[in-house]
Amino acid sequence: MKRLLIHSCCAHCAAYTVNYWREQGCEVSAFWYNPNIHPYTEHQHRLEAMQSLAKTMSLPIIVAEDYDIIDYFRGVVGHESERCQYCFKLRLSKTAGTAKEMGFDAFTTTLLISPQQKHELIKEVGEELARETGVEFLYTDLRKRYSDSRHITKPLDLYRQQYCGCVYSKWERYADITIK
Ligand code: SF4
Repeated sequence: MKRLLIHSCCAHCAAYTVNYWREQGCEVSAFWYNPNIHPYTEHQHRLEAMQSLAKTMSLPIIVAEDYDIIDYFRGVVGHESERCQYCFKLRLSKTAGTAKEMGFDAFTTTLLISPQQKHELIKEVGEELARETGVEFLYTDLRKRYSDSRHITKPLDLYRQQYCGCVYSKWERYADITIK
């Protein structure tokens, strides 16, 4: 059985993704590392929701101790319109590195279920990291199951975020703008 580490961006994207990979025969653990979520209180609300889901699903979860907000901003300031690429690299390289250290066979991310994310870019970053680390990146396009995932979490009454994560995405969401 393949041991799979799933980078988890939030409970609502994780629910279906975890079921899907379990159905493929993987032994799944979740990995939490999201220093792109601002402010810290928002990060904690989303983490608590993820921990609650993990308990409900009997899902082992590894929570990275670091909240590397400074690294995040050092990486994106000056090229904010392309910030998602750095954001994916930061989060997925930590996931691939942890998978390697802890002896997992493969890694993936719940970001692949979201129609709001830059899907092809996530795939590209995951495959590049697989080449660099030698840990397999499991790819599948789950975007059509996004609403199924939300149906799973609805009765659990978990905290539900209103923007992607970074301060820029919050500004875009509430001011209805796109940063160029
Ligand atoms: S919009 Fe979302 S994916 Fe892009 S940098 Fe911000 S938090 Fe990361």
